[in-house]
Amino acid sequence: MDYKNFKPANNIQDLQYFGEFGGVNPSISDSSTYTFLSAKTMFDTFEGNADGCYLYSRHSTPSNLYLGEALAAMEGTETANVAASGMGAITPTILHYCHAGDHVVSSRTIYGGTYAFLKNFTPRLGIQTSFVDITKLDLVEAAIRPETKIIFCECVSNPLLEIADIRKLAALAKKYNIQLLVDNTFSPLSISPAALGADVIMHSLTKFINGSSDTMGGVVCGTQELIDRLRNVNDGASMLLGASMDSLRAASILKNLRTLHIRMQQHSKNAMFLAQKFEADGFRTVYPGLKSHPGHELMTSQMNKQYGYGGMLTIDVGSLDRANALMELMQERNLGYLAVSLGFYKTLFSAPGTSTSSEIPEDEQKEMGLTDGLIRFSIGLDADIERTYELMKQCMQETLN
Ligand SMILES: *Cc1c(COP(=O)(O)O)cnc(C)c1O
Repeated sequence: MDYKNFKPANNIQDLQYFGEFGGVNPSISDSSTYTFLSAKTMFDTFEGNADGCYLYSRHSTPSNLYLGEALAAMEGTETANVAASGMGAITPTILHYCHAGDHVVSSRTIYGGTYAFLKNFTPRLGIQTSFVDITKLDLVEAAIRPETKIIFCECVSNPLLEIADIRKLAALAKKYNIQLLVDNTFSPLSISPAALGADVIMHSLTKFINGSSDTMGGVVCGTQELIDRLRNVNDGASMLLGASMDSLRAASILKNLRTLHIRMQQHSKNAMFLAQKFEADGFRTVYPGLKSHPGHELMTSQMNKQYGYGGMLTIDVGSLDRANALMELMQERNLGYLAVSLGFYKTLFSAPGTSTSSEIPEDEQKEMGLTDGLIRFSIGLDADIERTYELMKQCMQETLN
């Protein structure tokens, strides 16, 4: 893959698929099973030797392949496999690389579900994880053991928005002959991890990529060899664990993917505006686009600039009670919804300590800087962000003083 001048949105735009009757959208393959003209082809397909033949929709479907190829084009990987949810993409990939006796080095600030999987679930299978501060490369290196198989991190972490140095982590992974797996859910288009050296890129499509909060979805982007092995009928983790996407959903996510570049630009523009205002108003504001963010320079050095610093920001309002009062009032005034998830056209806000990161024990939350009064915002596509800011400020004055 040539990553010089890598342009993820162009790669999506340049794909061309027609529907069965010349439709401008690919036809949806609305079948769970597929017929064969000969019994021999069916056998060959089972053995993985009949390219272009479909067998059964848990394995793959034309609609899922279209979406997977578009996401692979976006990430610049050979291919991709879509899944029914982000966790449905992440968990089989980890289990593909790690078996009993193996070890994972993971960032400690990751999505609560992934954290819970590595902390509580995989130890039952004999897989141990060391959680480290991913921004301290010496700690990451010190945690690597002979039995370590993967380094796992998020490019922009949930919910603390720490920036992982993908180039340096990739070099470290190479040095120890292990794989760098990254979750790029918070920074689609903005960061192209494969171009920076990551081996496997995963997303929850549920968030920005689909962008309409109407469905779950996930994807693993990587080499053809990896994806073939994940889909293998005999021992493929994706195939056997069964979190396959439905074709109707794949078709609808593909349509939304085409506007991702415009949406990301607007999310980033609005988030940057609000982050600067909140910071100027005296709130402890975390946004990678702010000079005060410890990862600002790093983010700037590894991003595709036209998509901006993303739609996620956090502010600390001092206590959970204050956070709750503010969020309830903002919802009442229709400035957004008190909801988890992200990437919607409306702003979404939640207090991660008691919601999306509640899997993380309280003392560990404290250690990583996840305070009670933290509000995580997924900034929406508001047409008039200055008006939004004025109305939010009003809410802050009414609840925080
Ligand atoms: C939401 C999320 C996931 C999990 O995805 P689902 O689609 O909810 O299964 C994983 N990683 C990150 C960063 C997320 O925000």
